[in-house]
Amino acid sequence: MKKKISIVVPSYNESKSIPYFYEEICNASKQIKELDFEYIFVDDGSKDDTLNVIKDYASKDKRVKYISFSRNFGKEAAILAGLEYSIGDYVAVMDADLQDPPSLLDEMYHLIKDEGYDCVATRRVTRKGEPVIRSFFARLFYKIINKMSDIEMVDGARDYRLMTRQVVNAIISIKEYNRYSKGIFSFVGFKTKWLEYENIQRVAGESKWSFWKLFIYAIEGITAFSTAPLVFAAIIGIVFCLISFILILFIIIRTMIFGDPVSGWPSLVCIIFFLSGVQLFSIGVIGQYLSKTYLETKRRPIYIIRETEKDK
Ligand code: UDP
Ligand code: MG
Repeated sequence: MKKKISIVVPSYNESKSIPYFYEEICNASKQIKELDFEYIFVDDGSKDDTLNVIKDYASKDKRVKYISFSRNFGKEAAILAGLEYSIGDYVAVMDADLQDPPSLLDEMYHLIKDEGYDCVATRRVTRKGEPVIRSFFARLFYKIINKMSDIEMVDGARDYRLMTRQVVNAIISIKEYNRYSKGIFSFVGFKTKWLEYENIQRVAGESKWSFWKLFIYAIEGITAFSTAPLVFAAIIGIVFCLISFILILFIIIRTMIFGDPVSGWPSLVCIIFFLSGVQLFSIGVIGQYLSKTYLETKRRPIYIIRETEKDK
C-alpha cells in the first residue's frame, strides 16, 4: 500500500491565496508519485470567504479535508489541530500564502526517506522585502532567546517542515496551552535537516503580523521556553539592595561629619523613579509567568472545532 503524506495548511483570511496554493500543491503532488496526499486546511476562524473556497475544493477533490474553528485561535492552535487531524506517515506544515514553496517537498521527502532524517525544516536566509526595523528586532530577538534558553531557536526558521509520524506524535503529546511552535519543534529534538531559501513574498492577501503582534509573540517565545527573566529580575533586586546599602552607609557617615544640609532632593527623586521602575519591571516579569501558569492550570482547549468535512 502507498504511504500517505498529510499537508497541514493553517489558513486565516486566505481566500485569495488558496487557489494559487491549491494549484501549486497539486503540481508538487504529481512529482511525488509514490505517496498518497491529503491536504488539511485549517480555517482559523476566517472572516472572509476562506471556508467556502476550501469547501469548494473539498467537494471536487477528496484529498482535500478541512477543519473550521469556531473563532480565530491563532496559527499555533491551527497547526496543532492539523497535526492531530492528520493520518499521514509523513506530515508537512505549510503556509497558505506560498511563502513556503511546495516544490521543495520532493527534496524534503527524499532527505527523510533516503538519508534517514526524521524531520526536514526550513529557514530563510534573507529577509528581503521585510521592513528593516522588523529584521533588526527579529535578529535581536534570536540573539536574546538563544542566550536565555537551553533550546536552540534558529534565526529565520519557518514553520514549514516535513516530519515523520514519530515526530508528529511527539509534538502532539505536548499539550501546553501557550504554544510556541518554533520552541516546541526544537524541544522534541530528532534528527533535523535544515534547508535554506531566500525569502519569498506572499502571493495574495496580507500578512497577519503587525509589529506589535510580533513583539508580543517574542515575549511569548521567551517566557514559554526560558525562566531566565525571573533570575534576571532577582539579580537586579539583589544588586540594587547592595547599592542602596552602600548609599545608606555613605549618607550616615556624611551626616555625622557634615551635619544635615537639606539638599539632594533631585537625586532622591531620580532614585525613587528608577527603583520603582525596576520594581514594576520585575513584578511585570513575574506577572508574565504567573499569567502563563494561570492559563495552563485552567486546561482550556487549545482550539474549538465548528465543523470538518466529515460533518456533511
Ligand atoms: N494564520 C493563521 N491564524 C492566524 C494568523 C495566521 O492560521 O491567526 C496563517 C495564515 O493564514 C498563513 C500563515 O498562518 O497561512 C502565516 O501567516 P502570515 O503569512 O500572515 O505570516 P508571515 O508569513 O507574514 O509571517
Ligand atoms: Mg506569510
